[in-house]
Amino acid sequence: MKHSLINTGDIAQYRDRFNWPVNADGARQTYLCGNSLGLQPRRAVERVQEVLSDWSSLAVEGHFDAKRPWLTYHEQAAPLLARLLGCDASECVTMNTLTINLNLLMISFYRPTEQRYKILIEQDAFPSDRYAVQSQLHLHGHDPANGIVEWTRDDDDYSIDSLAALLDEHDDIALLLLPGVQYLTGEWLDLPAIAALARQHDIPLGLDLAHAVGNVPVNLSMIDADFAVFCTYKYLNGGPGAIGGAWVNQRHHASDLPRLHGWWGNDESTRFLMRDTFEPAAGVDVWQQSNPPILGLAPVIASLEMFDAVGMSALRARSLELTGHLANRLERELADAVQIVTPRDPSRRGAQLSLRLRTDATAAKQVFERLQQADIIGDWREPNIIRVAPAPFYNTLEDTDRLVDVLTAALS
Ligand SMILES: *Cc1c(COP(=O)(O)O)cnc(C)c1O
Repeated sequence: MKHSLINTGDIAQYRDRFNWPVNADGARQTYLCGNSLGLQPRRAVERVQEVLSDWSSLAVEGHFDAKRPWLTYHEQAAPLLARLLGCDASECVTMNTLTINLNLLMISFYRPTEQRYKILIEQDAFPSDRYAVQSQLHLHGHDPANGIVEWTRDDDDYSIDSLAALLDEHDDIALLLLPGVQYLTGEWLDLPAIAALARQHDIPLGLDLAHAVGNVPVNLSMIDADFAVFCTYKYLNGGPGAIGGAWVNQRHHASDLPRLHGWWGNDESTRFLMRDTFEPAAGVDVWQQSNPPILGLAPVIASLEMFDAVGMSALRARSLELTGHLANRLERELADAVQIVTPRDPSRRGAQLSLRLRTDATAAKQVFERLQQADIIGDWREPNIIRVAPAPFYNTLEDTDRLVDVLTAALS
């Protein structure tokens, strides 16, 4: 992993390299919602304008003559992603969007048999992941209603012991699909331990890293899962609906797993010879189907460059400082009214804290509305959870203090 010379103090200067939403008086909002949609990097605006300008002046020649030629534009992403995810550049790619990538990789890695066909997901899995899993079961002729095994939480935590017990109990599981950081509770799961269990039971493991990339340090070479998918619009600040990403462990690159093909998965050397026979590209690139949306990639690459410049270790240090400060104040001052659902141990969480208000649902919703009126942007999950995430790139201790102060007033 590349070392960064930037210390957490220097990260503060990045706050002004983002465009901030403002209130009616033109003052910056207290934005704590980077777990849902990251702020817009100014560099992203420049990069999108560059593509628009090359398109207007060069049209089709932009594929070769643009400042960053479109023909190879997507290749900028792989080395940046590889350093961010701790993997080889041949294993990661930007393509499509998250749920599509999840479905595409399940086509390859969900290989059910009569006896072994169930898919394990966690309780409170993100609905899109659950729907994708249901549709894969259906695609293979299984009843989605009894094809899902759920790993339930003990108290608010997903325990490795209970996962181990589930896997011992079930010999009918064909795939594990689990998150890096769980979207609702903010728990950072012990991925190396999960991967070890998957290996032990010989079950493929897919990871949804939507809430992990750009949030916590991820080292995919060490985790040894089979595939991973992620989006880039949350902590990675890639823009609304931005292009997603995928990772496939290199041990599967030369395999004959079934895949859905398109011309962009054909080997680069013969891609434009327009032949009738498909020649697979090396590495994860073979899963690509279409030529990538350059306008969607431009902000993602701009943002990945920023992550590369600062480095995940410095961002993580800053994140521990911000989220630790917020958690400490909430525990010291508001423990009677607010329960932190996210694990206490900083090594088991990322930036996000999920706060359960110890009131009825109506009162809880009113508290959330008070935050909104005070220009504090978090998000609400039924029936009584407020999620807030100080993003290490652009939030400050003052942002977290404002949240606690306004919460205190709203709860008193
Ligand atoms: C954000 C998120 C999604 C959203 O999926 P899209 O295909 O990008 O719309 C899906 N799953 C998880 C776990 C997420 O956090």
